Amino acid sequence: MTTAVSQSVEAEIRAIFKSNTASYEGINPRTALDIIRSVVENAILNQPRSLQKRIGPSEIGTPCDHCLAAKLAGWQQIEKDVPWLPFVGTSVHSQIEDIFVQESLKQCATDPTGGVQYAAENKTMVGVIDGVEIWGSTDLVDFVSGMTVDWKVVGATTLRAAKVGPSQVYRVQQHLYAKGWNDAGYRIDHVAIAYLPRNDISLTKAVWWTEPFNREIAEEALARANRFAANIRALRTINEEAVTAWITGLPRHNRQWNPDIAAGKECFDCKRFPDNPVMADPFLAGLDQIK
Ligand SMILES: [Zn+2]
Repeated sequence: MTTAVSQSVEAEIRAIFKSNTASYEGINPRTALDIIRSVVENAILNQPRSLQKRIGPSEIGTPCDHCLAAKLAGWQQIEKDVPWLPFVGTSVHSQIEDIFVQESLKQCATDPTGGVQYAAENKTMVGVIDGVEIWGSTDLVDFVSGMTVDWKVVGATTLRAAKVGPSQVYRVQQHLYAKGWNDAGYRIDHVAIAYLPRNDISLTKAVWWTEPFNREIAEEALARANRFAANIRALRTINEEAVTAWITGLPRHNRQWNPDIAAGKECFDCKRFPDNPVMADPFLAGLDQIK
């Protein structure tokens, strides 16, 4: 689908530049490169992914109490840099989405009555936090095997760690998606993560992890987020400082909830939620708006 759109846009642009090319000005090449670079950087910073304010399935299972509460309360995430690695990940996702759209079209052409086996990047409602539906997009659903698959484009360290199993936040994300599909009436019995190497010359180093769907994992994570949201709402009736003080006092590395941190890993989000919060679009306020 994305291919069809980009092809027609490409043809349009090509037609315009053939008939009307901007005049040569001889701009200094370094200046020109600065401009070109800023085109790329601005596009990345303004991607929907970078602008996402509301908590999503990929964040609900964060082992860090501090970051979960900060996200729910609507603290602005401080991006110190252009999120280049997420952009690489998003780009790979978009190409793989295309592969499975083409595969489904091929299957339908071969066997028009067989139905569609794969759904790529389809939205599902994973649960409710503070009375508001939380939706997320599942990278791939295989209806025939009853399995969801999530692509993770990862560096060498994560790839190595993946061999003993996923992090808590990744694991919760998968069970949330599977819960969403089951709730919507599609039978999903398994969840999976494909860890695709970002720095390897071959896909043979990819790690393909799967486990049976466990609704409790999803429910437990939603219940925790709901407890936090209720706390924020209660404290907000006092004032915003009460909310900030509570979140600031929360453990940034909750070892009990987080097996990864027990193993010595840090919460990578902590540095993006400093303790003097800048309010973005507050989650709970944002929820009120759409009700
Ligand atoms: Zn954190």
